[in-house]
Amino acid sequence: MLVRKSFLAWAFSLFFLLQLPGLSAEKPEKCELAVIGGGPAGVYLSYRLADSYGRGLCLFEISDHLGGRMTDEELGGAFVGTGARRVNEKQDYVIELARELGVTLEAVPQRSQLIFYKGVHGYASKDFVALYPRLKAFGPLDDDPNTALDDELWSLLSSSIKQDPELGKKYPLLNDYILHVFEARFKDRNTAEDAFSYFRGMNRFQAEFKLPTATANYFEYIEKENETGPENFYPKGGMHTFVKRMDEAVHDKIRIFLKEGLKQLEKAPEGYELRTTAGNVFVAGKVVLAIPKVSLSKVGGGLIAEIRKAPQFESILPVPIVVINQLWKDAWWEKAKDPNNTSASGQVWRAWSSDSCVNHVEIPQEAYLSEREKKPTRSVYSDDPNCNALWTKLFYEKGIAGVEEEVVKGLQEVFNHPKHPLKVPKPLATTFHYWPAGWYYAHKNSKYSNAEIAEWSRQPLKDHPDLMLVGEGYWLDRPGWSEGAYFSADALIESRKLKRQK
Ligand SMILES: Cc1cc2nc3c(=O)[nH]c(=O)nc-3n(C[C@H](O)[C@H](O)[C@H](O)COP(=O)(O)OP(=O)(O)OC[C@H]3O[C@@H](n4cnc5c(N)ncnc54)[C@H](O)[C@@H]3O)c2cc1C
Repeated sequence: MLVRKSFLAWAFSLFFLLQLPGLSAEKPEKCELAVIGGGPAGVYLSYRLADSYGRGLCLFEISDHLGGRMTDEELGGAFVGTGARRVNEKQDYVIELARELGVTLEAVPQRSQLIFYKGVHGYASKDFVALYPRLKAFGPLDDDPNTALDDELWSLLSSSIKQDPELGKKYPLLNDYILHVFEARFKDRNTAEDAFSYFRGMNRFQAEFKLPTATANYFEYIEKENETGPENFYPKGGMHTFVKRMDEAVHDKIRIFLKEGLKQLEKAPEGYELRTTAGNVFVAGKVVLAIPKVSLSKVGGGLIAEIRKAPQFESILPVPIVVINQLWKDAWWEKAKDPNNTSASGQVWRAWSSDSCVNHVEIPQEAYLSEREKKPTRSVYSDDPNCNALWTKLFYEKGIAGVEEEVVKGLQEVFNHPKHPLKVPKPLATTFHYWPAGWYYAHKNSKYSNAEIAEWSRQPLKDHPDLMLVGEGYWLDRPGWSEGAYFSADALIESRKLKRQK
């Protein structure tokens, strides 16, 4: 009996010892460089480093596929973006990357945009100025009769902070800054409030006005955004073709682990110990965390906790997004045309509304999609916190059928222009996607510029030069653009932190 008891005690001790970090039953697998996260940033970084690290490079992805927010879904036999969809004509770097990877970008002709605001349908922001008699009476803000009032308001906001950067500190909350600038210009609070209401109503995105967005960082981003042009290019085969091509180029050179996310990270004598969601243990000399804030917040370990406490990390503001895609038998939207533009460019390709939670609709522009018998739309592209709450509640309470019914009702309202009334049919399919952070702005309490946050991310912990962050989520100058993921990865490579020692 005594022998049996001591055997049990020994077995129990061994069991508990094996649970301690670094004492796994099996010898941990070694990686010279571990890249955590197989989104565009992690895949691109691996693509650029595959030749120097070879199979010493381990890429870990928590889901069953690479791509992250640049993932398409198959609808009616075509690939449709659940996140990223296009490349802007001015994004030379991404256009060059497409050339390098053999991704074909299709240019699409310009089309019209339908706006539904305060119960009025229109095709240009000027159609809504009459809703604000005080603004109308004030007249144009500049001497150019061709600039629209919302563009004049954007210029006023951008130039005011450029002339006096201290305004960013005095009015750290974006909404306060906007109201201050408008009040100074219109010399009247009521007209300033009208201007703000009009300005917000003419903006496709709403999150910046509904979240605690930092003024200074936001205008740093807007300065870069102003460099984009009106035309967009669409990758043939969908946006994930970028990731697919990079994956093909490195697949046999490096080690890729799918369904193997980082669960816990600790310091180990030979570098870092990684415990994965698949229950395995790896040791890596260098670790690049190519996962944005919301994902990093779910990883355990003392070092990650330290990163999370950094004021730069706290400065990053997640922007949740809902995307609802639909598949249709017929292109019912073809009847929607700007009555004042009888040419082909009068055709609607985008509709938005801050009145409805069907607040941002996109008609497929990709030639290869339009040729298909069945046609997809992005029927909801919402960054509005109230609408996101409505869509997620509907999805969890009534399922996809409940979501579909509400979307069709909304489309009917948004597209029902008195000059081209139309009937929205029942879609063939509806899909729902919630991104806890579609992209990131800076929080109003941020004490750091976008460039300072990006620089911090390259070495978030002073004593850990071999632990790095990368991705669009740390490159706040390009929120919502994959360009930010590539720029961030290139900046890390250029910092030489990833130069091999051997
Ligand atoms: C609705 C929407 C529309 C967009 N439109 C465009 C557009 O038209 N054009 C454009 O260029 N960009 C667009 N973007 C932005 C683009 O998708 C992002 O810039 C890009 O995906 C960022 O890449 P990333 O690698 O930094 O992050 P992510 O894409 O978020 O990748 C992070 C990866 O890490 C993985 N991961 C998370 N946790 C772990 C873990 N613990 N261990 C291992 N892996 C983990 C995730 O599964 C994911 O694959 C859009 C984004 C959204 C949401």
